[in-house]
Amino acid sequence: MKQKYIFIGPPGSGKGTQTKMLSKDFNLPHIDTGSLLRDAVASGSEEGKLANSFMEKGQLVPIDVVSRIIKNRLLKDDAKEGFILDGYPRSMEQAYALDEILKEIDSDRNIEPIVFYFDVAEEKLVERLVNRRSCSECGAIYNLKTMTLENENICPKCGGKLTKREDDTEEVAIKRFRTYFNETAPLIDLYTKRGQLVKLDASLDINTIYKNLTGAIKEYVRS
Ligand code: AMP
Repeated sequence: MKQKYIFIGPPGSGKGTQTKMLSKDFNLPHIDTGSLLRDAVASGSEEGKLANSFMEKGQLVPIDVVSRIIKNRLLKDDAKEGFILDGYPRSMEQAYALDEILKEIDSDRNIEPIVFYFDVAEEKLVERLVNRRSCSECGAIYNLKTMTLENENICPKCGGKLTKREDDTEEVAIKRFRTYFNETAPLIDLYTKRGQLVKLDASLDINTIYKNLTGAIKEYVRS
């Protein structure tokens, strides 16, 4: 695995939009734990039911469930050249679990993942979350507050149905922020100390963030 990218940032900071663009351009799998967990919930499995009991409270799903999902996903053929991790790791415990997983399965361990941190003021985020809609067909993400859609229920790209996530309510969003600041924010320090962190200003427009992101990858590879 030569190209390894990890994305950290509060809920609604725009990681999903950027990681999808990067995945397409770099031909790397976009591994989004939130979506993988929502698939498990939709399947009705016991694991999905357990995951849902944490997700609906805005809490982290137990580490053994998430680590198993991530390891199985990283072992798939399409991750041979690398991966884009969106939403994992999300705690110190998960960061150490990822170290162990990579020790076990990655033959290019000398190449460390680049960790992008999406920096944006919290006030902007609750509003972004409650106005967020995503396409059930193509996965495109829209913000009803900042974009004018002809029909707020239909994806302008593919005609699919636009849906609102169950945990994108103000009440759960506030809990998700609390979880982020308690559990995930300490990773910024960890990866800074390891020299792997790249901070991006996530309050900028989508194309500028993407330019900064891909520019940072080129810089990092050169150095
Ligand atoms: P997201 O789609 O990234 O906002 O994640 C939605 C929810 O899935 C979170 O609020 C958590 O309950 C759960 N989740 C996602 N990623 C993880 C993870 N790495 N560890 C534990 N729970 C997670």
